Parts: sequence; structure tokens; C-alpha cells
Amino acid sequence: MKASRKGTDPMVDAGFSTRCVHAGEDRFRYADSITTPIVQTSTFAFKDSKDIEAYTKHGKARFEYGRYGNPTEQVAARRLASMCGAEDCVVFGSGMSAIITTILALIRTGDNIVITDDAYKKTLEFCSSYLQRFGVGCTVVPFGDYDALEAAIDKNTKFIFSESPTNPYLNICDLHRLVAIARKHKVMTLLDSTFSTPMNQRALDFGVDLDLHSCTKYLAGHNDILAGAVLGRKTLIDEIRAMHKAIGGVIDPHCCYLLLRGMKTFPLRMARHNSTGMAVARFLEGHPCVKRVYYPGLESHPHYNIAREQMSGFGGVVTFDIKGGVTEANRFLDHLQLCYIAPSLGGVETLITHPATVSYYDMTRKQRYALGITDTLLRLAVGIEEVDDLIADLDQALRKSRRS
Ligand SMILES: *Cc1c(COP(=O)(O)O)cnc(C)c1O
Repeated sequence: MKASRKGTDPMVDAGFSTRCVHAGEDRFRYADSITTPIVQTSTFAFKDSKDIEAYTKHGKARFEYGRYGNPTEQVAARRLASMCGAEDCVVFGSGMSAIITTILALIRTGDNIVITDDAYKKTLEFCSSYLQRFGVGCTVVPFGDYDALEAAIDKNTKFIFSESPTNPYLNICDLHRLVAIARKHKVMTLLDSTFSTPMNQRALDFGVDLDLHSCTKYLAGHNDILAGAVLGRKTLIDEIRAMHKAIGGVIDPHCCYLLLRGMKTFPLRMARHNSTGMAVARFLEGHPCVKRVYYPGLESHPHYNIAREQMSGFGGVVTFDIKGGVTEANRFLDHLQLCYIAPSLGGVETLITHPATVSYYDMTRKQRYALGITDTLLRLAVGIEEVDDLIADLDQALRKSRRS
């Protein structure tokens, strides 16, 4: 693995932060620009018929049409590959585009897939309902039940899809165990690593076959773009790239520039998300108005030991149950002055969601509770503001949640 990486990534010996700033770029660029130019074009011109021939017959490296690749996008893909320790990468216009295109590229009629039950809501929905239309079976297994996971594999199983940490309870998948089960049965493993990021956990180093990210979150990091990526061995990525060229969920060059820009400061931001996440989790755990906190860096988290072994930081998402009912939860939200009430995570602004009334509003209370989504559950995604300011905002709103 190391040798092949070296072949494709000249920055392989550089430190992580250096690669986040420089990997994927040519040393000198158009007009001697320090930044990667935004090549805002949908198509690329051939000089003459000889130029066409050089491309079609002699494999000249160049671009042809925007859906098949763009120079700005190519730099982002190479940089992500370097950050994740991957041979190759495809960048998409959203995380969901990366996930669905990858699945469609791998499956054939008659295949089965296995997915763990607390995967991202839209991923789970696609696998457990839409795949049937293509004659592909899907077994949903309880997250963390490795016996059930192994039992669900049959001779038609193509891959296991899992996620770590998961949303909203931040459950941690034991990657060594996942990969060992998959290898024993010769099936592939796909992991949505959005919540862990390549800084806190490099899934490919554990032997996962395909590493998927919603770059919308920490990697771009500013709550201003949507982007996604899949990373892995070149042979697998080539199949996904071919499907991507047909489906066309491309990222536009300007968006890609913002992703590149975000990735330059990613290690600094991520270190802050990790430390603030930890501090806020500890603060909430000691708060009289909080019933329970879920954060993999806390000893109280059921997967604390696995998290500590396989992750170098625990991220900026802290989930907690406040005391009381939906009235207290709403009152708490209404008193927040700094944290914004919004879905998403991983950006510089702190966001908070109330899953019961937002992501799961279309379910009955009974259905929600069966999934563990209580009326008082809140998912906080800390930004990079001053930790004391965040704690002060949470504290005043929590105290007011108890008073009518
Ligand atoms: C946000 C998210 C996605 C979807 O990504 P988009 O960029 O919104 O399409 C997938 N998985 C996880 C874990 C996410 O948090």
C-alpha cells in the first residue's frame, strides 16, 4: 500500500497539515498564481485535428468536457486522496451523490447488500427501499451487533455499508472487526467517514475498501457549499468514475475552489472542533438541566474504548437529552443567542438541531422513540467560536428551559 501510494502522491512524506495546504497542486500554476485557479468552463477546446488525435489515439492528458473532469476538481481529488491515504478519489456535488453513485457502480441485479441501521437517513432510505427496484436485496442489521452482521452475509452479498461515528448517538464501529468479518466472507466494506474525517480516523488504513465523505461538513467547513467524495483503490474508483460520468453529479469549479480553500485550514479547524467538542461534552455532562450526554470522548459513552483506540479526536458533534419534555426542549432552543438552529455540522458556526421536530418530524412519536429519537434529544455541532462563549450561551438557555 505504502509503495503504491508513493507512486501517485509526491507529498506522501509530508506532514498532514502540509498536505492539506499543498497536495494535488502543480508547483507553479497559471499566471504564477499562489492559489489554484478556478477554471470556470463547461468544455475544453481542441487546437486542431492533430490535437484531437493526440488525445483520442495517443492518450494525451487533457480535459474534454466538464462532466468528465475539470482542472480545479482534479486538484481537490488529488488533495483528498493524499489526506485520506488513498490511491484515487472522485469528487461529487454532494455527499449523497458520492454515496448513491458508488452504490450504483458496484451493484448488479441479484446482489445483496448489508447496511447497519443507524446509517445516515437518506443512505438507509435508498438502500432499504430504492434498491429493490433494481432487484438488489438489502439487509439492515443493528449497529454494533457483529454476529448479526456476519449472519446477514450470504453468497450474493456485495458489500457491507457502515458509518462511524453515527448520527445522532455517535456510535463507533469497530473497524478491525468489520474488516475481519468482510474479508472472511470476501465482501467489500464501504464506510461513511463524514463524522470522523481523515484527521480523526483514516478508514483506509484499517483495510476498509471505500471511504466516503460528505465534504459539505468538516472538510469544506464553512457552511457554504455541498460536496462529497469517495476514496480507495484505483481499480474500484475507476468503476465509480465511469458511473459518475453518466450520472453527472459533478461539483462545479467555483464550489471546488471553496472546498480546496476549506481544506487548507481543515487541520486547524478540526483541532478546535475536537477540543471544543470535548469541553462542551464535559460541561453538559455536569449540568443540572441535562439528563444524558452522548460523546465518544466521554467515559460514559458505550463505545468509549473503541473510540479511544481507533480515533485521534472525537469531533464537534455532541448529542444530549435535556431534562423535561418537548416544552423544555423548545424553550431551550428559543433562548439560544449564539448557536443557530439548523441542520448540518462541521462548519465554523455552531449549529443545533432538534431531531424530533426537524429530521424526524414526519414520524409518529412511537416510530421516533423506536429509533431512539426522544422529544428532548438535541444534536449540537460546535463551530470554532470561543468555547467559553458557547458554554455561556448553552448554560443560560438551559437554565431558562426550566422556567416558563
Ligand atoms: C451530511 C451527510 C451526508 C450527506 O451529505 P450531503 O453533502 O448533505 O449530500 C451523508 N452522510 C453523513 C454522515 C452526513 O452527515
